[in-house]
Amino acid sequence: MRKDANPVTHQPASDPARDDVIGVEDVAVQRALGGAVDGVTLLRAHVERTGGEHRPQQEEMAQAVADATRSAIPLLAQAGTGTGKSLAYLFPLAASGRRAIVATATNQLSEQLIRHDLPQIADSITATGGTFSFAMLKGRNQYACLQRISDLQALEAAGAAHGSGDAPDTLFDLEDAPTETIASRRRQAKADGADVAELIAWSKKTSSGDRSDGPSVTDRVWSQVSTSSADCPGAASCPFGDVCFTELARKKARAADLVVTNHALLAQEVRLALETTTEHSDTPAAGIFGAADIVVVDEAHDLPDTLTGALSSEVDPRAFTKFLSRAAKYIHDATVTADGESTTIAAIRRDLEGLEEALESVPAGPVEQLPDTVVDLLTAVTTRFLMLHSLLTTAAGEARREDKPKRAAAISTVLAQAGDLAARLVAARTLGEGRVRWVDQRRPEDAPVLRTAPLEVGAALSVALAERTLIATSATLTVAGDFTPIRRALGLEDEAATMIDVGSPFDYPSQGMLYIPRAPFPEPVGKDRTAHTEAVQQEVLELVTAAGGRTLALFTTTRGAQQAAEHLRAHLPHLAVHATGDAPADVLVRQFSSEETSVLCATMGMWQGVDVQGPSLSLVIIDKVAFAPMDDVLTAARRALADSRRRDGFTEVIVAQAATSLAQGVGRLIRARSDRGVVAILDPRIHTKGYGRTLLKSLPPFRVYTDRDVVLGALTRLTGGTTAEARQGTPVSLGRPKTAGRSRTSRTPRKASATRGIARTIKGGSDS
Ligand code: SF4
Repeated sequence: MRKDANPVTHQPASDPARDDVIGVEDVAVQRALGGAVDGVTLLRAHVERTGGEHRPQQEEMAQAVADATRSAIPLLAQAGTGTGKSLAYLFPLAASGRRAIVATATNQLSEQLIRHDLPQIADSITATGGTFSFAMLKGRNQYACLQRISDLQALEAAGAAHGSGDAPDTLFDLEDAPTETIASRRRQAKADGADVAELIAWSKKTSSGDRSDGPSVTDRVWSQVSTSSADCPGAASCPFGDVCFTELARKKARAADLVVTNHALLAQEVRLALETTTEHSDTPAAGIFGAADIVVVDEAHDLPDTLTGALSSEVDPRAFTKFLSRAAKYIHDATVTADGESTTIAAIRRDLEGLEEALESVPAGPVEQLPDTVVDLLTAVTTRFLMLHSLLTTAAGEARREDKPKRAAAISTVLAQAGDLAARLVAARTLGEGRVRWVDQRRPEDAPVLRTAPLEVGAALSVALAERTLIATSATLTVAGDFTPIRRALGLEDEAATMIDVGSPFDYPSQGMLYIPRAPFPEPVGKDRTAHTEAVQQEVLELVTAAGGRTLALFTTTRGAQQAAEHLRAHLPHLAVHATGDAPADVLVRQFSSEETSVLCATMGMWQGVDVQGPSLSLVIIDKVAFAPMDDVLTAARRALADSRRRDGFTEVIVAQAATSLAQGVGRLIRARSDRGVVAILDPRIHTKGYGRTLLKSLPPFRVYTDRDVVLGALTRLTGGTTAEARQGTPVSLGRPKTAGRSRTSRTPRKASATRGIARTIKGGSDS
């Protein structure tokens, strides 16, 4: 990336409000005449052709992306919900003629780009006489593994030959698993046999091996035909390396103009680039970045956390001990113990037990200086791991010489894992600059784990990106309109960068209201938060009753979500109430979206990503501002670092984190122009604490209300406060709790007038 001490600011699109949209024929003529066809023009033509809505915000963002592709100046673009930001970056990228990587937070969004948006864009480019190719790259476990499938078939054949279905240990991944694991995997394989057989048949026909192209199966079934990066020996050591689906996807990705991937894979590449840069040369490995000139990160507010995870490390003595059983199967040590165990393995086992005991005596929390005993044991285990590594290398060589490719591949996997564990031991002992180390032991009965993590990830990202241009976008990129925290987190603090906030096409003040109660509603402070918990349950009941269900209630804890769900089920038995833990998240969201009056009580995982339009989601409730726990060592260390640099660590780290998650949660309500509703944040601290203004300024511009009756009235007018039964013509009582102090009768809703009702209420002005 270009270095420049003077940040530049963005000039908006020259005429974002233009309505003389250019048709695709005009675009083709422009290209034929040798004129440059830019992404904004293509986007306009696409919107015109598909009868889409002209959105100035989308064009402004597209113009900024087009500028970034030309200038190579990094871009931070905040684009509110409804902007259509995917097309706003994809068209300019496709038209730029430069190679790009697009990383999304989830595979679902990647799929949407690959299956819906990019084919249309490719058509637009082709129509103008140009060419454009794209590819998708997922994690290894999203592709069928031919080695695993071959092993499964061998297992099946051996079972048939024995006439018992009880096959010998032919799977290379089962071969080294504990006996009980083998038994349980066999049970699972039998139970899911039909699905597995279908997957195997599909693997013979598919050209991609991509899970999303195959039959829909459970994660458990899929895990039987796929493998993780940690368990793959690598194409060079695998008998199927030449035809491996993951490798083919990588090859395709290297040749494509645009590659769609996810944050997790991007973060792995950053780690790889960092390791290769620091250990071997100044030039990071190209990895999936390949020849890309531009890296676009969608939902970029999430990337720093994903990078932190990828660059963190842990030493868990018990997990290390489990690994020993795996490695022991392959080595031939010169000496063995009286029990016939390799002396190297026995010595590591002993040292790991000692390490666990030594860590028990270190208080949980940050550890600047490790006790000598721990250092000595870490050193001893590292040395012995290197010996183990050497024994495994010998064993791999023997397997290759004896022409046992399957065994050689299995040993290669174990070798790579031994190398990774040895690196973790070194990281824990030496604690590189800019990292924090701590002993993690949440409950006395838990085994202690020694962890390390980076205090900052921006520099690592910069190293990995090298000269590539970063374009980061999200609906929640700023904190109270300030780009500084994300800029710093992405390593752009000292670089020239363009920053824009294009806003949202939604009319938040008319479409919704933000309710934040004041005292006497209790604040969630102090050790005993019973008063707040009880008040939240009661308030949730009141609000859900007024909304006739139709509520996404977001909680900071699983316990809070489940307690609220139980409370609602007890008082409103006619409503379908779902809660985190009842089913997988995607199933819960599907149920919630399809049953109009249902309620979903969810935890932090659903504060973002839930996209339900229409009356099914008329009310979002948030139990409280989600600050990082006080005992979160990494957050505390990052705050202290900011303070030590004479910045305000509390605002920069704690408040910024809370503001982003709150804005994501609040953003669940309005997903379309026709959406109407209420967001309730049941945390009066927003009114009383200094950081409240920062939090409010980070949210969409709803008007704020504190009067519960005004809000309940608006909700009732909007939804009729009715259940599904009432909608079918049977008015029902809403089961008012004894302490609610007000009676409410459901009535048949008239959606249009209800909508006007809430708009009137909101336009009447806020009370805060
Ligand atoms: S390289 Fe071999 S083991 Fe690894 S994913 Fe491909 S087929 Fe499976």
